[in-house]
Amino acid sequence: MPLSALGPRVLLRRLREVMARPEPAQKKLDAIVTLIAANMVAEVCSLYVLRSGRLLELYATEGLKREAVHKSKLQIGEGLVGTIAAEAEPLNLSDAQSHPAFKYLPETGEEIYHSFLGVPILRGGVTIGVLVVQNRTSRQYSEDEEEALQTTAMVLAEVIASGELEEVALAVEADVAHIRSHHLKGNSLAEGIALGHVVLHEPRILITNLIAENIPLEKQRLEQAVAALQESVETLINHAESLRGAEYAGVLETFRMFAHDRGWLRRMREAIDTGLTAEGAVERVQNDNRARMLRIEDSYLRERLSDLDDLANRLLRILTGQIQTAAAGNLPKDTILVARNMGPADLLDYDRQKLRGLVLEEAGATSHVAIVARALGIPAVGKVEGVVEIVDTGDPIIVDGQAGDVHVRPSWSIEQAYSEKVRFYARKQAQYAALRDVPAVTRDGVAISININAGLLVDMPHLHDSGADGIGLYRTELQFMMAASFPRLAVQMNHYATVLESANGKPIVFRTLDLGADKALPYLRQPREDNPAMGWRAIRVALERRALLELQVRALLRAAAGRELRMMFPMIAETSEFRAAKRVVEKVKAALEAQRHPLPTSIKLGTMIEVPALLWQLDNLLKEVDFISIGSNDLMQFLFACDRSHARLQGRYDTLNPAVLSLIAEVARKAQQHRVPVNLCGEMAGRPIEAMALIGVGLRSISMAPAAVGPVKSMILALEQAKFRSFLEPLLARPDPSLRSEIEAFARNHAIPI
Ligand code: PEP
Ligand code: MG
Repeated sequence: MPLSALGPRVLLRRLREVMARPEPAQKKLDAIVTLIAANMVAEVCSLYVLRSGRLLELYATEGLKREAVHKSKLQIGEGLVGTIAAEAEPLNLSDAQSHPAFKYLPETGEEIYHSFLGVPILRGGVTIGVLVVQNRTSRQYSEDEEEALQTTAMVLAEVIASGELEEVALAVEADVAHIRSHHLKGNSLAEGIALGHVVLHEPRILITNLIAENIPLEKQRLEQAVAALQESVETLINHAESLRGAEYAGVLETFRMFAHDRGWLRRMREAIDTGLTAEGAVERVQNDNRARMLRIEDSYLRERLSDLDDLANRLLRILTGQIQTAAAGNLPKDTILVARNMGPADLLDYDRQKLRGLVLEEAGATSHVAIVARALGIPAVGKVEGVVEIVDTGDPIIVDGQAGDVHVRPSWSIEQAYSEKVRFYARKQAQYAALRDVPAVTRDGVAISININAGLLVDMPHLHDSGADGIGLYRTELQFMMAASFPRLAVQMNHYATVLESANGKPIVFRTLDLGADKALPYLRQPREDNPAMGWRAIRVALERRALLELQVRALLRAAAGRELRMMFPMIAETSEFRAAKRVVEKVKAALEAQRHPLPTSIKLGTMIEVPALLWQLDNLLKEVDFISIGSNDLMQFLFACDRSHARLQGRYDTLNPAVLSLIAEVARKAQQHRVPVNLCGEMAGRPIEAMALIGVGLRSISMAPAAVGPVKSMILALEQAKFRSFLEPLLARPDPSLRSEIEAFARNHAIPI
């Protein structure tokens, strides 16, 4: 039996007419299956939709018994329809009943039909339904017929996902991932609760026009877009070559290969022949590709298929003109950013005034994007698997940075509950604000210096709002990461002078540039590294690129003229590195003196303690430095050989491990012995229970994100330090992986809020 004389193009046009009718959704679906059956000269056409992620329900049929609609259901993997859904592949059978997976559903009356052609309805490579045609005679459907049915399925996928069938969806509670509410669990990256609307960091491309009016024109559009794509890939490769060296460009070679791949181009042209627009054709081929990608185990092949997916996205952007990044677009005033991952600089591109929250699929709590989120006071949750797939731009979403929960398209009751939580949170903040001018002194009279971590001018008001004693860590690299080009002397000087001015005499510890690893500057050439966290970074870059360090030191010295200046160096691994950095400061100072520039009243130099090797050089180091600051984020990472940004390894080792606490106790003891001030400025200082442990092992100065000051101070005011210390000390000798539950129990028994 030949394919209908009308061909797929006419079918697509008619489908569009049906969809435009002002009729209830079920009626439209009934008309759609009738139309497809007629067009394919089939006696049966049935549509199954996936519900609750596992049940395929018969939604409409022409030819089978109508009573079976919304009654016949199959599990994924069950029967022919379930097999198609599970494998995301068509089944073309001349005798369906002899197939081993065939399952007889008596209510449908399908026993009289022999030939069977079923195709998956795919969206983003995921099956959301199955479309079937059947005939009485035993025959094999042609390849063209199979193609045509797949194209029709794609158009249906858009209809189902677009919500045009909302009435049906509501009536039978259709459970397409993109309509349903979802509660997802992740890890807390930054405290706070936010209600808002989704903005995808890398927006999905919206295709509204799938059905072609003019086939030759669509082919021409495709050719032009492919040419533009090929050109952009060339530019990318040339750019990469000059920026990062031939090695990186090599990686892009596969990109070039795919952009010229004849098979890919041919399949897209053929898809246009079936009646799709150029963008419809790209998506049609991309769907097949994605379905294949999900099934492939070999990680190399999957990577290649994902390159191809990336190229298809670029092609769609060219065709639809949706080239803008989300940051440049019009953001809603309650933006909740959703992304697989992003660097700290990407986050800084967004308008802070409109950002309410952040949800990431990857990223751990001590990754720099998390630190920037905390600095900006944006509630954030990380390690939320699969979130990008199920959200659409504009979806309502709730981010609970306390519990690490994310609610996508929340129900009314969840939204109410969270609005109440937000009010509770605000009341709590008001209580913390009332503590602003209360000195942080333990119940037994020990004063603790509470400082904040900062790095941007927007952080400065927090110094006063929080009542902190000073800035324990000023991450100077953040300004550099935000800039479009390397900030010149005057720009840097201005920045530091503004920071010092707005601190109103409170002390600030400026950390010199800590570049490398995930803190990359777009304008600074950085080699590709296998182990960037342990690579060419921080002080290692600064001592090799002396001019860069000298410029920054010059800017700091001049900005602090007439004031005290505190500076510290990141990632020092040897006392000699501190000495070398100190010599740079002395050289710059001498030069400024010679030029008769006014100088700071005093210059205090310190180091971060982040590299374990330094722990065995403390006696030497402490004789030379004015102060030290423990960077527990990096120190933990190197101590346990455990990547701080690795989402899967979050929580693998506890900061309340007795080894970590003993080590900090030892640093505190040595520093005291040498009368050198010691601070801790890693993320652990901002969590009350961990801050309590730090005080318990002898630290008297800690530095944290501004939002943590209130909760930490409440803990300090309730703590009897000496009692806790004698409780903690014997526990440090234990071989346990963590003392968390013991410390929690102490806090509970002594009514200490943690
Ligand atoms: C640290 O490593 O603990 C630290 C404070 O520095 P950063 O997080 O910027 O690496
Ligand atoms: Mg560090």
